[in-house]
Amino acid sequence: MWPLSRPLCGSDLWPYRGIEPVQGLAPMGHEYVGIVEEVGSAVSTIRPGQFVIGSFFASDNTCEICQAGYQSSCIHRELMGSIGTQAELARVPLADGTLVATPDLPPADLIPGFLAASDVLGTGWFGAVAAEVGPGKTVAVVGDGAVGLLAMLAARHLGAERIIAMSRHASRQKLALEFGATDLVEERGDEGVARIKALTSGLGAHSVIEAVGTQESMMQAIRSTRPGGHVGYVGVAHDVELPGEELFFSHVHLHGGPAPVRRFLPQLVDLIWNREINPGKVFDLTLPLDDVAEGYRAMDERRAIKALLWP
Ligand SMILES: [Zn+2]
Repeated sequence: MWPLSRPLCGSDLWPYRGIEPVQGLAPMGHEYVGIVEEVGSAVSTIRPGQFVIGSFFASDNTCEICQAGYQSSCIHRELMGSIGTQAELARVPLADGTLVATPDLPPADLIPGFLAASDVLGTGWFGAVAAEVGPGKTVAVVGDGAVGLLAMLAARHLGAERIIAMSRHASRQKLALEFGATDLVEERGDEGVARIKALTSGLGAHSVIEAVGTQESMMQAIRSTRPGGHVGYVGVAHDVELPGEELFFSHVHLHGGPAPVRRFLPQLVDLIWNREINPGKVFDLTLPLDDVAEGYRAMDERRAIKALLWP
């Protein structure tokens, strides 16, 4: 497959900052869209010339785990990051199960949206579904990176009544409001929790989406959730330890993990194709592949929400 364009991911900032060790040279990139160049002999539904989107895990989409909607734990899963999709060409394993084709070649302005679907939109969507977002509910989102922002878009689409964005960056707050946030909370930690409680009659939110992955953000999410409520956690956890006793008495449901983006891709592709959602707005920096290092710098220094490499 020829990746036409590829985004840089916030999760790549963990190895970029040295928090995740990297041994020698490593391929980068796990988000991708592209035009199929060639298919293997066992591939039956994907054809050369199609515009396709896949997620960060290749999956067969047929095993019991996939059928239950957890393609990112497929028994045959392969991590696309180990293949590296920030490249001119990439071999996508299990193409029939992994890739979703658009009805036709998309117009250029829709391509950033499909790229978002490959990971950040699919992940935010799973966060919202895992947090049981639905009509009439109050949703809080911890994290204002691309995933958090797109979780707000998902919450809006899933019918949430109120969406509280926990964000302190002006450019991100603006996008949060565009994506459907109704309230902004700038405080973090215990102060952030107190603000959420104050906005919800002292009860906490019904649904909280955790899109950071630190001890502070995870506890902020759990403590912002009302008894009986749900946390959907999709920030990749780094040294998070949960206190058993507090969890026991909280009556909060926890569900999350690496998002089974493939579960949502057909629906997301439809919504983007029909211009019902515009998740491509999260890309606020476009660079050629040769300038990939500047893309990481800009995201690390929070000068960019998400960078796009094109072509
Ligand atoms: Zn499977």
